[in-house]
Amino acid sequence: MPYPYIPSPNYDDRPEGVTVNCVVLHATVEPTVQGTINIFLDPAKRVSAHFIVGKEGQVIQMVPVEKRAWHAGPSELDGKPAVNDYSVGIEMVNRNDGVDPYPEVQMQAVAGIIRFVRSRYVIPDERIVSHATVARPAGRKTDPRNFDLDRLRRLARIP
Ligand SMILES: [Zn+2]
Repeated sequence: MPYPYIPSPNYDDRPEGVTVNCVVLHATVEPTVQGTINIFLDPAKRVSAHFIVGKEGQVIQMVPVEKRAWHAGPSELDGKPAVNDYSVGIEMVNRNDGVDPYPEVQMQAVAGIIRFVRSRYVIPDERIVSHATVARPAGRKTDPRNFDLDRLRRLARIP
């Protein structure tokens, strides 16, 4: 794996025959990488993501992309439920208050992860989505607030 790896116990197998075809972006609310790692290491919390990206652009992987991380909860994309089944989840360290910025190095690191995922799976631009977009019922989640998704989609293209 191309990133430092700290295994979370909070994952399981994707359903038989299901292929990754989207990326879900999150904001941690939790203000540090280490705090987020600790949450994803706790079996009682039953949450995880494939990647955590810090504000200095540090990346930690916690679940292999071929496995199902537990990040989206009740969710739907283009009429298809259970987005965890077919997505890669990326947690960006950010307070999600709509004011806390996403520094350029963090943005570039997220784009790099998506390019890595695209070296293995087909992910159309419009299937790089926010947690807020896929969470059900609608309005259950707001993350990542005030994040420039269009810019990320441009940065994450493979030339
Ligand atoms: Zn989220």
